[in-house]
Amino acid sequence: MTFIPYGRQDITDEDVKAVCEVLRSDFLTQGPAIEKFEKTVAEYCGASHAVAMNSATSALHVACLALDLGPGDWLWTSPNTFVASANCALYCGAQVDFVDIDPDTHNMSIEVLERKLQAAESEGRLPKIVIPVHFAGEPCDLKAIKALAERYRFKIIDDASHAIGGRYGEFVIGGTPYSDITIFSFHPVKIVTTGEGGMAVTNNPELGVKLARLRTHGITRNPAEMTREPDGPWYYEQIGLGYNYRITDIQAALGVSQMGRLDAYINRRHELAARYDELLAPLPLKRPFRNPENLSGLHLYVIVLNDAGRRKQVFDTLRANGIGVNVHYIPVHLQPYYQTLGFKLGDFPAAEAYYSGAISLPMFATLTDEQQDRVVNVLSDALA
Ligand SMILES: *Cc1c(COP(=O)(O)O)cnc(C)c1O
Repeated sequence: MTFIPYGRQDITDEDVKAVCEVLRSDFLTQGPAIEKFEKTVAEYCGASHAVAMNSATSALHVACLALDLGPGDWLWTSPNTFVASANCALYCGAQVDFVDIDPDTHNMSIEVLERKLQAAESEGRLPKIVIPVHFAGEPCDLKAIKALAERYRFKIIDDASHAIGGRYGEFVIGGTPYSDITIFSFHPVKIVTTGEGGMAVTNNPELGVKLARLRTHGITRNPAEMTREPDGPWYYEQIGLGYNYRITDIQAALGVSQMGRLDAYINRRHELAARYDELLAPLPLKRPFRNPENLSGLHLYVIVLNDAGRRKQVFDTLRANGIGVNVHYIPVHLQPYYQTLGFKLGDFPAAEAYYSGAISLPMFATLTDEQQDRVVNVLSDALA
């Protein structure tokens, strides 16, 4: 019995060749593959600027800095996400709060966001940045969030770690006119991988320049940005505090190669989701919501059991039968570290209720129909 993970990378001979070519080339980092990767993703999304980094976590951090997040500011995100979507605020010395989720989409609830903004305005604690997360790849209602952003004057970073290749209406995620910066992750469980890696994309040229500078120590080589006349051709200036968040050319070459299969990956994920939808229909569980006006990236396929009390038993049975199910996500505010910041059980009841019954089933482009049938059979038996 082979183990079926919940997510897995797909590495082809072509990918291996692309990586080996870089290893034998003149540049292992800061070479041409990075620019090519950035251009490939930017063109795919319809964004003018893309800055590749060593992780989505790094990209979230510098995106917050590029939007001037600092001490005294608030950042709001969804509690149903990976901790990185919230930690980025703390890296900047800002404070985090959460907006509870919609029980159907499992994304940040627009109604809760609006009510929370009204209350925050009267208390003088409006957020500077809101990070909606396209959970499982299902696009958030960015247009509605943008309308609120204009009224309450906050910036939007959409965390699209699950959503590369997805669409919001007519727009490709990363190229919508509704967010200031979009973040992608290229961790191996995600849709496209570079081993470790991330990217920030934007249609704002000023933000594009800032993001690139923050990735490399806050250093510029552009004389127009310098405070002094260059001493000579070697001259550079550090004009702000940045980091070394660079990706390598080795990884970027893998990314370029993988991007060529992105549409095929998304198509296969949708085939698998449609099969799950059909095969799971008779079972006592809620299948994931997909808005037909959008295209989900389908990073995850999450079911929610009608009887949350059976989640652990069902999960254990699947694992015992070699099915690598997982749970996404433990609400961030329930993490012990976040509890030391004052959050407690009961703060975001919709995220907590969702979490108690959720199981992520295997979902990746190379999952076969036969493997999927095995997942469904074990699950049906466990629920019988
Ligand atoms: C994976 C993930 C991240 C972090 O990505 P890394 O590339 O591992 O830093 C951030 N947000 C979400 C929603 C993720 O799923």
